[in-house]
Amino acid sequence: MDMHGSLTLNKRAQVIIVGGGPVGVGLAVDLGMRGVSCVLVERRVGMHKIPRGQNLTQRTLERFFFWGCVDELRAARLLPPEVPAAGITAYESLVSEHWHAFAGREAVGQYYFQKNDRMPQYLLEGVLRRRMEKLPLVEPRFGWVARGVEQDASGVRVAVENEAGDGAGEVLEADYVVGCDGGHSIVRELAGIKRGGSDFDQVMLLTVFRSRELSEGLNARYPMCSTYRVLSPELNGYWQFFGRIDPDEGWFFHSPVPSDTTRENFDFAALLHKVAGFKFACEFDHVGFWDLRVAVAEEYRKGRVLIAGDAAHSHPPYGGFGLNNGLEDAANLGWKLAARLQGWGGETLLDSYDDERRAVFKQIGEEFIAERVKWEGEMINRHDPVREPEAFRATWAALKSDSASIILNYEPNYEASAVLFGPPGGVNAARGEYMFKARAGHHIAPRALACGRNVFEAFGDGFTLLAFGVDDAAVAPFVEAARARKIPLKVVRDEYSGGREDYEARLVLVRPDQYVAWTGDAAPADADAVMRKVAGVD
Ligand SMILES: Cc1cc2nc3c(=O)[nH]c(=O)nc-3n(C[C@H](O)[C@H](O)[C@H](O)COP(=O)(O)OP(=O)(O)OC[C@H]3O[C@@H](n4cnc5c(N)ncnc54)[C@H](O)[C@@H]3O)c2cc1C
Repeated sequence: MDMHGSLTLNKRAQVIIVGGGPVGVGLAVDLGMRGVSCVLVERRVGMHKIPRGQNLTQRTLERFFFWGCVDELRAARLLPPEVPAAGITAYESLVSEHWHAFAGREAVGQYYFQKNDRMPQYLLEGVLRRRMEKLPLVEPRFGWVARGVEQDASGVRVAVENEAGDGAGEVLEADYVVGCDGGHSIVRELAGIKRGGSDFDQVMLLTVFRSRELSEGLNARYPMCSTYRVLSPELNGYWQFFGRIDPDEGWFFHSPVPSDTTRENFDFAALLHKVAGFKFACEFDHVGFWDLRVAVAEEYRKGRVLIAGDAAHSHPPYGGFGLNNGLEDAANLGWKLAARLQGWGGETLLDSYDDERRAVFKQIGEEFIAERVKWEGEMINRHDPVREPEAFRATWAALKSDSASIILNYEPNYEASAVLFGPPGGVNAARGEYMFKARAGHHIAPRALACGRNVFEAFGDGFTLLAFGVDDAAVAPFVEAARARKIPLKVVRDEYSGGREDYEARLVLVRPDQYVAWTGDAAPADADAVMRKVAGVD
Protein backbone atom coordinates (compact mmCIF):
# COMPACT_ATOMS: atom_id res chain seq x y z
CA MET A 1 0.00 0.00 0.00
CA ASP A 2 1.34 3.44 -0.90
CA MET A 3 0.91 5.37 2.30
CA HIS A 4 1.89 8.67 0.84
CA GLY A 5 -0.67 8.65 -1.98
CA SER A 6 -4.05 10.06 -1.04
CA LEU A 7 -3.46 9.48 2.67
CA THR A 8 -1.87 12.09 4.89
CA LEU A 9 0.37 11.55 7.87
CA ASN A 10 -1.93 12.24 10.77
CA LYS A 11 -0.24 11.20 13.96
CA ARG A 12 3.18 10.54 15.40
CA ALA A 13 3.59 8.42 18.54
CA GLN A 14 6.46 6.38 19.92
CA VAL A 15 4.68 3.06 19.52
CA ILE A 16 1.67 1.90 17.51
CA ILE A 17 -0.06 -1.19 18.81
CA VAL A 18 -2.22 -3.05 16.30
CA GLY A 19 -4.83 -5.16 18.08
CA GLY A 20 -6.59 -4.33 21.31
CA GLY A 21 -7.18 -7.81 22.69
CA PRO A 22 -5.75 -8.52 26.15
CA VAL A 23 -2.14 -8.47 24.97
CA GLY A 24 -2.38 -5.22 23.02
CA VAL A 25 -4.20 -3.40 25.81
CA GLY A 26 -1.85 -4.89 28.42
CA LEU A 27 1.13 -3.62 26.45
CA ALA A 28 -0.48 -0.18 26.06
CA VAL A 29 -0.95 -0.02 29.85
CA ASP A 30 2.65 -1.09 30.43
CA LEU A 31 4.04 1.46 27.98
CA GLY A 32 1.70 4.23 29.08
CA MET A 33 2.76 3.75 32.69
CA ARG A 34 6.42 3.90 31.62
CA GLY A 35 5.98 7.26 29.92
CA VAL A 36 5.84 5.98 26.34
CA SER A 37 3.25 7.50 24.02
CA CYS A 38 1.26 5.03 21.95
CA VAL A 39 -1.75 4.67 19.71
CA LEU A 40 -3.74 1.45 19.99
CA VAL A 41 -5.75 0.43 16.93
CA GLU A 42 -8.52 -2.13 17.50
CA ARG A 43 -11.18 -3.27 15.06
CA ARG A 44 -13.78 -4.14 17.71
CA VAL A 45 -15.66 -1.38 19.48
CA GLY A 46 -17.48 -3.59 21.99
CA MET A 47 -16.42 -6.69 23.84
CA HIS A 48 -16.72 -10.23 22.51
CA LYS A 49 -18.78 -12.61 24.65
CA ILE A 50 -16.72 -15.80 24.46
CA PRO A 51 -15.02 -16.65 27.77
CA ARG A 52 -11.80 -17.82 26.00
CA GLY A 53 -8.69 -17.75 28.24
CA GLN A 54 -9.92 -18.00 31.83
CA ASN A 55 -7.17 -19.74 33.75
CA LEU A 56 -5.02 -16.89 35.03
CA THR A 57 -1.64 -17.79 36.47
CA GLN A 58 -0.08 -16.20 39.53
CA ARG A 59 2.34 -14.47 37.19
CA THR A 60 -0.54 -12.84 35.30
CA LEU A 61 -1.94 -11.53 38.58
CA GLU A 62 1.52 -10.13 39.44
CA ARG A 63 1.31 -8.23 36.17
CA PHE A 64 -2.02 -6.72 37.14
CA PHE A 65 -0.53 -5.75 40.51
CA PHE A 66 2.18 -3.75 38.73
CA TRP A 67 -0.37 -2.34 36.30
CA GLY A 68 -2.28 -0.99 39.31
CA CYS A 69 -5.53 -2.91 38.78
CA VAL A 70 -5.19 -6.22 40.59
CA ASP A 71 -8.05 -5.46 43.00
CA GLU A 72 -10.36 -4.57 40.10
CA LEU A 73 -9.41 -7.84 38.42
CA ARG A 74 -10.12 -9.92 41.54
CA ALA A 75 -13.46 -8.15 41.96
CA ALA A 76 -14.45 -9.29 38.46
CA ARG A 77 -14.23 -12.99 39.39
CA LEU A 78 -17.52 -14.88 39.01
CA LEU A 79 -16.72 -18.14 40.82
CA PRO A 80 -16.58 -18.24 44.64
CA PRO A 81 -12.98 -17.76 45.84
CA GLU A 82 -12.72 -21.27 47.22
CA VAL A 83 -13.33 -22.92 43.82
CA PRO A 84 -9.91 -24.05 42.57
CA ALA A 85 -8.58 -23.43 39.06
CA ALA A 86 -8.00 -27.17 38.89
CA GLY A 87 -10.50 -29.77 37.81
CA ILE A 88 -11.54 -33.34 37.24
CA THR A 89 -10.34 -35.78 34.58
CA ALA A 90 -12.59 -38.75 33.85
CA TYR A 91 -12.46 -41.73 31.52
CA GLU A 92 -14.99 -41.66 28.66
CA SER A 93 -17.64 -39.64 30.54
CA LEU A 94 -18.12 -37.67 33.74
CA VAL A 95 -20.08 -40.50 35.36
CA SER A 96 -17.21 -42.93 34.94
CA GLU A 97 -15.87 -44.78 37.98
CA HIS A 98 -12.39 -43.81 36.73
CA TRP A 99 -11.66 -40.19 37.53
CA HIS A 100 -9.19 -38.07 39.42
CA ALA A 101 -8.85 -34.48 40.53
CA PHE A 102 -5.85 -32.89 38.86
CA ALA A 103 -3.63 -30.27 40.44
CA GLY A 104 -4.11 -26.62 39.61
CA ARG A 105 -1.59 -23.81 39.65
CA GLU A 106 -2.19 -23.43 43.38
CA ALA A 107 0.58 -26.06 43.69
CA VAL A 108 3.27 -23.44 42.91
CA GLY A 109 1.56 -20.52 44.64
CA GLN A 110 4.29 -19.94 47.25
CA TYR A 111 6.76 -18.91 44.53
CA TYR A 112 4.65 -15.93 43.43
CA PHE A 113 3.54 -12.71 45.06
CA GLN A 114 -0.06 -13.05 43.85
CA LYS A 115 -2.52 -15.93 43.91
CA ASN A 116 -3.84 -17.31 40.63
CA ASP A 117 -7.43 -16.57 39.61
CA ARG A 118 -10.09 -17.41 37.07
CA MET A 119 -12.63 -15.45 35.08
CA PRO A 120 -13.89 -15.06 31.51
CA GLN A 121 -11.40 -13.26 29.31
CA TYR A 122 -13.88 -10.49 28.43
CA LEU A 123 -14.04 -9.45 32.09
CA LEU A 124 -10.24 -9.26 32.25
CA GLU A 125 -10.23 -7.25 29.03
CA GLY A 126 -12.76 -4.84 30.53
CA VAL A 127 -10.48 -4.22 33.53
CA LEU A 128 -7.53 -3.57 31.23
CA ARG A 129 -9.47 -1.23 28.95
CA ARG A 130 -10.63 0.84 31.92
CA ARG A 131 -7.05 1.01 33.20
CA MET A 132 -5.79 2.08 29.78
CA GLU A 133 -8.35 4.87 29.55
CA LYS A 134 -6.77 6.52 32.59
CA LEU A 135 -3.37 6.84 30.90
CA PRO A 136 -2.96 10.16 29.09
CA LEU A 137 -0.13 8.92 26.87
CA VAL A 138 -2.27 6.16 25.32
CA GLU A 139 -4.69 6.98 22.53
CA PRO A 140 -7.11 4.08 22.00
CA ARG A 141 -8.79 3.90 18.61
CA PHE A 142 -11.57 1.36 18.81
CA GLY A 143 -13.38 0.68 15.54
CA TRP A 144 -10.18 1.30 13.55
CA VAL A 145 -8.44 -1.31 11.38
CA ALA A 146 -4.80 -1.49 10.31
CA ARG A 147 -4.48 -2.13 6.58
CA GLY A 148 -0.80 -1.52 5.81
CA VAL A 149 2.56 -1.43 7.56
CA GLU A 150 5.89 -0.22 6.22
CA GLN A 151 9.19 0.62 7.86
CA ASP A 152 12.46 2.31 7.04
CA ALA A 153 15.36 3.77 8.96
CA SER A 154 13.30 6.73 10.18
CA GLY A 155 10.31 4.86 11.57
CA VAL A 156 7.21 2.77 10.86
CA ARG A 157 4.00 3.87 9.20
CA VAL A 158 0.68 2.13 9.66
CA ALA A 159 -2.26 2.85 7.37
CA VAL A 160 -5.50 2.71 9.36
CA GLU A 161 -9.16 3.02 8.49
CA ASN A 162 -12.08 4.04 10.65
CA GLU A 163 -14.16 0.95 9.84
CA ALA A 164 -16.79 1.60 12.50
CA GLY A 165 -17.14 5.26 11.52
CA ASP A 166 -16.96 7.06 8.20
CA GLY A 167 -14.30 4.80 6.69
CA ALA A 168 -11.76 7.62 6.73
CA GLY A 169 -8.13 6.65 6.31
CA GLU A 170 -5.07 7.94 8.11
CA VAL A 171 -1.40 7.09 8.35
CA LEU A 172 0.08 6.79 11.81
CA GLU A 173 3.82 7.06 12.30
CA ALA A 174 5.94 5.78 15.16
CA ASP A 175 9.33 4.45 16.14
CA TYR A 176 7.97 0.92 16.56
CA VAL A 177 4.83 -1.02 15.75
CA VAL A 178 3.78 -4.05 17.77
CA GLY A 179 1.36 -6.51 16.18
CA CYS A 180 -0.92 -7.82 18.90
CA ASP A 181 -3.50 -8.64 16.27
CA GLY A 182 -4.13 -12.29 17.01
CA GLY A 183 -3.55 -15.54 15.15
CA HIS A 184 -4.30 -14.06 11.69
CA SER A 185 -1.96 -11.11 12.30
CA ILE A 186 -1.67 -8.74 9.37
CA VAL A 187 1.38 -7.13 11.00
CA ARG A 188 3.18 -10.48 11.04
CA GLU A 189 2.19 -11.16 7.48
CA LEU A 190 3.19 -7.73 6.13
CA ALA A 191 6.53 -7.93 7.93
CA GLY A 192 7.17 -11.22 6.13
CA ILE A 193 7.47 -13.24 9.34
CA LYS A 194 6.79 -16.96 8.76
CA ARG A 195 5.30 -19.43 11.20
CA GLY A 196 6.25 -23.03 11.99
CA GLY A 197 4.53 -25.59 14.19
CA SER A 198 2.14 -28.52 14.11
CA ASP A 199 -1.24 -28.60 12.46
CA PHE A 200 -3.19 -31.47 13.98
CA ASP A 201 -5.70 -31.38 11.16
CA GLN A 202 -8.45 -31.53 13.75
CA VAL A 203 -11.53 -29.32 13.92
CA MET A 204 -12.59 -28.38 17.42
CA LEU A 205 -15.99 -27.31 18.64
CA LEU A 206 -16.46 -24.50 21.16
CA THR A 207 -19.92 -23.97 22.61
CA VAL A 208 -20.98 -21.51 25.26
CA PHE A 209 -24.24 -22.47 26.96
CA ARG A 210 -26.33 -22.21 30.09
CA SER A 211 -27.52 -25.19 32.12
CA ARG A 212 -28.48 -25.36 35.79
CA GLU A 213 -29.09 -29.07 35.45
CA LEU A 214 -25.48 -29.71 34.39
CA SER A 215 -24.26 -27.67 37.39
CA GLU A 216 -26.49 -29.62 39.76
CA GLY A 217 -25.52 -32.97 38.25
CA LEU A 218 -21.79 -32.30 38.55
CA ASN A 219 -22.09 -30.70 42.01
CA ALA A 220 -23.80 -33.86 43.25
CA ARG A 221 -20.89 -35.97 42.11
CA TYR A 222 -17.75 -33.84 42.53
CA PRO A 223 -16.48 -30.98 44.69
CA MET A 224 -17.09 -27.76 42.73
CA CYS A 225 -14.13 -27.01 40.46
CA SER A 226 -13.39 -25.10 37.26
CA THR A 227 -12.95 -27.67 34.51
CA TYR A 228 -14.17 -31.21 33.87
CA ARG A 229 -12.09 -33.06 31.31
CA VAL A 230 -12.81 -36.35 29.58
CA LEU A 231 -10.26 -38.63 27.91
CA SER A 232 -11.54 -41.36 25.58
CA PRO A 233 -9.57 -43.95 23.59
CA GLU A 234 -11.11 -42.94 20.26
CA LEU A 235 -10.02 -39.32 20.71
CA ASN A 236 -6.27 -40.13 20.75
CA GLY A 237 -5.32 -37.60 23.41
CA TYR A 238 -7.60 -34.74 22.36
CA TRP A 239 -9.66 -33.43 25.22
CA GLN A 240 -13.35 -32.92 25.64
CA PHE A 241 -13.94 -30.53 28.46
CA PHE A 242 -16.56 -28.51 30.23
CA GLY A 243 -15.47 -25.26 31.86
CA ARG A 244 -17.46 -23.30 34.37
CA ILE A 245 -18.09 -19.64 33.69
CA ASP A 246 -20.06 -18.97 36.88
CA PRO A 247 -21.26 -21.08 39.83
CA ASP A 248 -24.89 -21.32 38.65
CA GLU A 249 -25.41 -22.02 34.98
CA GLY A 250 -22.70 -20.61 32.69
CA TRP A 251 -20.59 -23.18 30.82
CA PHE A 252 -18.35 -23.62 27.81
CA PHE A 253 -17.40 -26.89 26.15
CA HIS A 254 -14.56 -27.88 23.80
CA SER A 255 -14.41 -31.13 21.81
CA PRO A 256 -12.92 -32.53 18.62
CA VAL A 257 -15.62 -32.95 15.94
CA PRO A 258 -15.60 -34.38 12.39
CA SER A 259 -14.14 -31.94 9.86
CA ASP A 260 -17.42 -31.54 7.96
CA THR A 261 -19.39 -30.48 11.07
CA THR A 262 -21.57 -27.40 10.64
CA ARG A 263 -23.99 -25.64 12.97
CA GLU A 264 -26.84 -27.29 11.06
CA ASN A 265 -25.74 -30.92 10.59
CA PHE A 266 -24.69 -31.85 14.12
CA ASP A 267 -26.53 -32.62 17.36
CA PHE A 268 -24.47 -30.60 19.85
CA ALA A 269 -26.73 -31.34 22.84
CA ALA A 270 -26.33 -35.09 22.24
CA LEU A 271 -22.52 -34.71 22.30
CA LEU A 272 -22.69 -32.73 25.56
CA HIS A 273 -24.92 -35.42 27.11
CA LYS A 274 -22.59 -38.22 25.99
CA VAL A 275 -19.53 -36.55 27.50
CA ALA A 276 -21.35 -35.63 30.73
CA GLY A 277 -22.84 -39.11 30.94
CA PHE A 278 -26.34 -37.79 31.63
CA LYS A 279 -28.99 -35.68 29.93
CA PHE A 280 -29.62 -32.09 30.91
CA ALA A 281 -31.51 -29.13 29.53
CA CYS A 282 -29.33 -26.38 28.07
CA GLU A 283 -29.54 -23.14 26.08
CA PHE A 284 -26.78 -22.39 23.60
CA ASP A 285 -25.37 -18.85 23.41
CA HIS A 286 -22.58 -19.62 20.96
CA VAL A 287 -21.47 -22.47 18.68
CA GLY A 288 -18.16 -22.06 16.85
CA PHE A 289 -15.23 -24.05 15.48
CA TRP A 290 -11.47 -23.67 15.61
CA ASP A 291 -8.50 -25.57 14.15
CA LEU A 292 -6.27 -27.40 16.58
CA ARG A 293 -2.88 -25.98 15.73
CA VAL A 294 0.35 -24.99 17.43
CA ALA A 295 1.98 -22.23 15.39
CA VAL A 296 5.03 -20.23 16.45
CA ALA A 297 6.47 -17.32 14.47
CA GLU A 298 10.04 -17.77 13.29
CA GLU A 299 10.94 -14.26 14.48
CA TYR A 300 9.27 -11.95 16.99
CA ARG A 301 11.09 -8.89 15.67
CA LYS A 302 11.88 -7.57 12.23
CA GLY A 303 13.50 -4.16 12.55
CA ARG A 304 10.92 -1.79 13.95
CA VAL A 305 8.14 -4.37 13.77
CA LEU A 306 7.49 -6.67 16.71
CA ILE A 307 4.75 -9.19 17.39
CA ALA A 308 3.28 -10.44 20.66
CA GLY A 309 0.54 -12.73 21.98
CA ASP A 310 -1.40 -14.92 19.55
CA ALA A 311 0.20 -13.05 16.64
CA ALA A 312 3.46 -14.65 17.72
CA HIS A 313 2.18 -18.01 18.99
CA SER A 314 -1.18 -19.71 18.52
CA HIS A 315 -2.15 -22.85 20.30
CA PRO A 316 -5.09 -24.84 21.63
CA PRO A 317 -6.47 -23.93 25.06
CA TYR A 318 -4.71 -26.91 26.64
CA GLY A 319 -3.16 -25.80 29.90
CA GLY A 320 -4.02 -22.09 29.88
CA PHE A 321 -0.84 -21.11 28.03
CA GLY A 322 -2.40 -18.71 25.50
CA LEU A 323 -3.55 -15.67 27.39
CA ASN A 324 -0.97 -15.93 30.16
CA ASN A 325 1.95 -16.19 27.76
CA GLY A 326 0.65 -13.30 25.71
CA LEU A 327 0.55 -11.12 28.82
CA GLU A 328 4.08 -12.26 29.68
CA ASP A 329 5.17 -11.16 26.19
CA ALA A 330 3.76 -7.72 27.02
CA ALA A 331 5.61 -7.69 30.36
CA ASN A 332 8.88 -8.71 28.71
CA LEU A 333 8.58 -6.26 25.82
CA GLY A 334 7.16 -3.20 27.57
CA TRP A 335 10.19 -2.21 29.64
CA LYS A 336 12.61 -3.08 26.83
CA LEU A 337 10.81 -0.84 24.34
CA ALA A 338 10.67 1.93 26.94
CA ALA A 339 14.39 1.51 27.66
CA ARG A 340 15.22 1.71 23.97
CA LEU A 341 13.05 4.79 23.43
CA GLN A 342 14.35 6.50 26.56
CA GLY A 343 17.90 5.89 25.41
CA TRP A 344 19.27 3.72 28.22
CA GLY A 345 18.58 0.34 26.60
CA GLY A 346 20.50 -0.97 23.59
CA GLU A 347 19.56 -2.95 20.50
CA THR A 348 20.66 -6.15 22.22
CA LEU A 349 18.02 -5.52 24.88
CA LEU A 350 15.26 -5.26 22.30
CA ASP A 351 16.57 -8.34 20.47
CA SER A 352 16.44 -10.25 23.73
CA TYR A 353 12.62 -10.12 23.58
CA ASP A 354 12.66 -12.57 20.67
CA ASP A 355 15.45 -14.63 22.18
CA GLU A 356 13.78 -15.03 25.56
CA ARG A 357 10.11 -15.32 24.69
CA ARG A 358 10.22 -17.36 21.47
CA ALA A 359 12.30 -20.12 23.02
CA VAL A 360 9.84 -20.41 25.89
CA PHE A 361 6.83 -20.71 23.65
CA LYS A 362 8.52 -23.15 21.28
CA GLN A 363 8.99 -25.58 24.16
CA ILE A 364 5.44 -25.00 25.39
CA GLY A 365 4.09 -25.82 21.92
CA GLU A 366 6.28 -28.81 21.27
CA GLU A 367 6.50 -30.42 24.69
CA PHE A 368 3.74 -29.13 26.94
CA ILE A 369 1.05 -29.30 24.24
CA ALA A 370 1.88 -31.41 21.15
CA GLU A 371 3.86 -34.17 22.87
CA ARG A 372 1.34 -34.30 25.69
CA VAL A 373 -1.57 -34.83 23.30
CA LYS A 374 0.38 -37.69 21.71
CA TRP A 375 1.43 -39.21 25.03
CA GLU A 376 -2.04 -39.04 26.57
CA GLY A 377 -3.44 -40.60 23.39
CA GLU A 378 -1.03 -43.52 23.67
CA MET A 379 -1.64 -43.93 27.39
CA ILE A 380 -5.42 -43.91 27.17
CA ASN A 381 -5.33 -46.53 24.40
CA ARG A 382 -2.88 -48.82 26.18
CA HIS A 383 -5.21 -50.86 28.38
CA ASP A 384 -8.90 -51.61 28.54
CA PRO A 385 -10.41 -51.00 32.02
CA VAL A 386 -12.65 -54.09 31.80
CA ARG A 387 -10.26 -56.64 30.33
CA GLU A 388 -7.08 -55.36 32.03
CA PRO A 389 -8.23 -53.58 35.22
CA GLU A 390 -4.88 -53.68 37.06
CA ALA A 391 -2.85 -52.39 34.11
CA PHE A 392 -5.48 -49.73 33.39
CA ARG A 393 -5.37 -48.48 36.99
CA ALA A 394 -1.58 -48.08 36.77
CA THR A 395 -1.89 -46.14 33.51
CA TRP A 396 -4.61 -43.93 34.97
CA ALA A 397 -2.39 -43.17 37.99
CA ALA A 398 0.45 -42.21 35.61
CA LEU A 399 -1.87 -39.81 33.78
CA LYS A 400 -2.78 -38.18 37.09
CA SER A 401 0.81 -37.75 38.23
CA ASP A 402 1.78 -36.33 34.83
CA SER A 403 -0.82 -33.57 35.10
CA ALA A 404 0.71 -32.55 38.46
CA SER A 405 4.22 -32.60 37.02
CA ILE A 406 3.21 -30.23 34.21
CA ILE A 407 2.42 -27.54 36.77
CA LEU A 408 5.63 -28.16 38.70
CA ASN A 409 7.85 -28.30 35.60
CA TYR A 410 6.45 -25.19 33.95
CA GLU A 411 8.85 -22.51 35.15
CA PRO A 412 9.75 -20.29 32.18
CA ASN A 413 13.30 -18.98 32.39
CA TYR A 414 15.90 -17.19 30.29
CA GLU A 415 19.19 -18.64 31.54
CA ALA A 416 20.83 -18.21 28.11
CA SER A 417 19.74 -14.62 27.56
CA ALA A 418 22.41 -12.20 26.35
CA VAL A 419 21.21 -9.52 28.78
CA LEU A 420 21.69 -11.34 32.07
CA PHE A 421 24.23 -13.50 33.86
CA GLY A 422 22.80 -17.02 33.58
CA PRO A 423 24.81 -20.16 34.32
CA PRO A 424 27.22 -21.64 31.75
CA GLY A 425 25.33 -24.00 29.45
CA GLY A 426 21.93 -22.57 30.43
CA VAL A 427 19.13 -22.47 27.86
CA ASN A 428 16.01 -20.33 27.52
CA ALA A 429 13.17 -22.71 28.31
CA ALA A 430 9.63 -23.19 29.55
CA ARG A 431 10.76 -26.13 31.64
CA GLY A 432 12.48 -25.32 34.90
CA GLU A 433 12.51 -25.91 38.61
CA TYR A 434 10.84 -23.78 41.28
CA MET A 435 13.14 -22.55 44.08
CA PHE A 436 13.42 -19.64 46.45
CA LYS A 437 17.09 -19.31 45.51
CA ALA A 438 17.58 -16.21 43.33
CA ARG A 439 18.98 -17.40 40.01
CA ALA A 440 19.85 -15.19 37.05
CA GLY A 441 17.30 -15.80 34.30
CA HIS A 442 14.51 -16.88 36.65
CA HIS A 443 11.50 -15.15 38.13
CA ILE A 444 12.25 -14.02 41.67
CA ALA A 445 10.19 -15.58 44.46
CA PRO A 446 8.50 -13.29 47.00
CA ARG A 447 10.05 -12.75 50.46
CA ALA A 448 9.04 -10.41 53.25
CA LEU A 449 11.15 -7.43 54.23
CA ALA A 450 11.76 -6.63 57.90
CA CYS A 451 9.22 -3.78 57.67
CA GLY A 452 6.49 -6.32 56.81
CA ARG A 453 6.14 -5.38 53.14
CA ASN A 454 7.00 -7.84 50.42
CA VAL A 455 9.97 -7.28 48.13
CA PHE A 456 7.42 -7.07 45.29
CA GLU A 457 5.90 -4.02 46.97
CA ALA A 458 9.33 -2.40 47.17
CA PHE A 459 10.47 -2.97 43.57
CA GLY A 460 11.00 0.14 41.46
CA ASP A 461 9.77 0.69 37.90
CA GLY A 462 13.27 0.04 36.59
CA PHE A 463 15.92 -2.30 37.99
CA THR A 464 16.02 -3.02 41.72
CA LEU A 465 19.11 -4.01 43.65
CA LEU A 466 18.19 -6.06 46.70
CA ALA A 467 21.05 -5.59 49.15
CA PHE A 468 20.93 -7.73 52.29
CA GLY A 469 23.42 -7.37 55.11
CA VAL A 470 26.05 -5.60 52.98
CA ASP A 471 27.78 -2.27 53.52
CA ASP A 472 27.68 0.81 51.31
CA ALA A 473 30.80 -0.25 49.44
CA ALA A 474 28.89 -3.19 47.92
CA VAL A 475 26.04 -1.02 46.70
CA ALA A 476 27.77 2.20 45.63
CA PRO A 477 29.38 0.87 42.39
CA PHE A 478 25.93 -0.17 41.07
CA VAL A 479 24.38 3.15 41.98
CA GLU A 480 27.24 5.03 40.32
CA ALA A 481 27.15 2.91 37.13
CA ALA A 482 23.37 3.19 36.82
CA ARG A 483 23.45 6.95 37.40
CA ALA A 484 26.18 7.44 34.78
CA ARG A 485 24.20 5.43 32.21
CA LYS A 486 20.78 6.83 33.22
CA ILE A 487 19.53 3.31 33.95
CA PRO A 488 16.71 3.51 36.52
CA LEU A 489 17.82 1.64 39.63
CA LYS A 490 16.28 1.45 43.08
CA VAL A 491 18.17 -0.02 46.02
CA VAL A 492 16.27 -1.96 48.68
CA ARG A 493 18.36 -2.68 51.77
CA ASP A 494 17.64 -5.05 54.62
CA GLU A 495 19.20 -7.69 56.86
CA TYR A 496 20.28 -11.03 55.45
CA SER A 497 17.81 -12.95 57.63
CA GLY A 498 14.07 -13.36 58.15
CA GLY A 499 13.70 -15.63 55.08
CA ARG A 500 15.65 -13.32 52.76
CA GLU A 501 18.65 -15.62 53.10
CA ASP A 502 16.59 -18.13 51.07
CA TYR A 503 17.72 -16.14 48.04
CA GLU A 504 21.22 -17.51 48.78
CA ALA A 505 22.76 -14.20 47.65
CA ARG A 506 23.26 -10.93 49.49
CA LEU A 507 22.99 -8.89 46.32
CA VAL A 508 20.25 -9.60 43.77
CA LEU A 509 19.78 -7.39 40.73
CA VAL A 510 16.15 -7.70 39.60
CA ARG A 511 14.87 -6.55 36.19
CA PRO A 512 11.75 -4.44 35.70
CA ASP A 513 9.86 -7.66 34.82
CA GLN A 514 10.85 -9.30 38.12
CA TYR A 515 13.37 -11.66 36.54
CA VAL A 516 16.79 -11.91 38.19
CA ALA A 517 19.61 -10.43 36.10
CA TRP A 518 22.63 -10.93 38.36
CA THR A 519 23.43 -12.24 41.86
CA GLY A 520 26.48 -12.03 44.16
CA ASP A 521 27.59 -11.59 47.74
CA ALA A 522 29.83 -8.60 47.10
CA ALA A 523 30.15 -5.87 44.48
CA PRO A 524 31.47 -7.28 41.19
CA ALA A 525 34.90 -6.22 39.95
CA ASP A 526 33.19 -4.10 37.29
CA ALA A 527 29.66 -2.99 38.20
CA ASP A 528 29.52 -0.86 35.07
CA ALA A 529 30.03 -3.99 32.94
CA VAL A 530 27.10 -5.61 34.76
CA MET A 531 24.84 -2.63 34.11
CA ARG A 532 25.95 -2.40 30.47
CA LYS A 533 25.06 -6.04 29.89
CA VAL A 534 21.66 -5.96 31.59
CA ALA A 535 20.72 -2.84 29.60
CA GLY A 536 21.92 -4.49 26.38
CA VAL A 537 24.41 -1.73 25.54
CA ASP A 538 27.56 -3.86 25.48
C1 LIG B 1 -12.45 -19.59 20.71
C2 LIG B 1 -11.25 -19.43 21.56
C3 LIG B 1 -11.19 -20.05 22.81
C4 LIG B 1 -10.08 -19.90 23.59
N1 LIG B 1 -10.04 -20.50 24.80
C5 LIG B 1 -8.94 -20.36 25.58
C6 LIG B 1 -8.85 -20.95 26.85
O1 LIG B 1 -9.77 -21.63 27.29
N2 LIG B 1 -7.70 -20.79 27.57
C7 LIG B 1 -6.63 -20.03 27.09
O2 LIG B 1 -5.61 -19.86 27.77
N3 LIG B 1 -6.71 -19.44 25.91
C8 LIG B 1 -7.82 -19.59 25.15
N4 LIG B 1 -7.87 -19.02 23.95
C9 LIG B 1 -6.72 -18.25 23.54
C10 LIG B 1 -6.75 -16.84 24.11
O3 LIG B 1 -8.04 -16.31 23.99
C11 LIG B 1 -5.73 -16.02 23.35
O4 LIG B 1 -4.45 -16.59 23.60
C12 LIG B 1 -5.74 -14.55 23.72
O5 LIG B 1 -6.95 -13.94 23.36
C13 LIG B 1 -4.59 -13.87 23.00
O6 LIG B 1 -4.73 -12.49 23.11
P1 LIG B 1 -4.19 -11.53 21.98
O7 LIG B 1 -4.46 -10.17 22.49
O8 LIG B 1 -2.82 -11.92 21.59
O9 LIG B 1 -5.07 -11.84 20.69
P2 LIG B 1 -6.64 -11.67 20.47
O10 LIG B 1 -7.39 -11.86 21.72
O11 LIG B 1 -6.96 -12.54 19.31
O12 LIG B 1 -6.79 -10.16 20.07
C14 LIG B 1 -6.36 -9.68 18.82
C15 LIG B 1 -7.14 -8.41 18.53
O13 LIG B 1 -6.63 -7.82 17.35
C16 LIG B 1 -7.71 -7.25 16.65
N5 LIG B 1 -7.30 -7.14 15.24
C17 LIG B 1 -6.93 -8.12 14.41
N6 LIG B 1 -6.53 -7.62 13.23
C18 LIG B 1 -6.66 -6.27 13.33
C19 LIG B 1 -6.39 -5.20 12.43
N7 LIG B 1 -5.90 -5.40 11.21
N8 LIG B 1 -6.63 -3.94 12.86
C20 LIG B 1 -7.12 -3.69 14.11
N9 LIG B 1 -7.39 -4.69 14.99
C21 LIG B 1 -7.15 -5.96 14.60
C22 LIG B 1 -8.87 -8.21 16.86
O14 LIG B 1 -10.10 -7.59 16.70
C23 LIG B 1 -8.62 -8.66 18.30
O15 LIG B 1 -9.36 -7.91 19.23
C24 LIG B 1 -8.98 -19.15 23.14
C25 LIG B 1 -9.04 -18.53 21.90
C26 LIG B 1 -10.17 -18.67 21.12
C27 LIG B 1 -10.20 -17.99 19.76
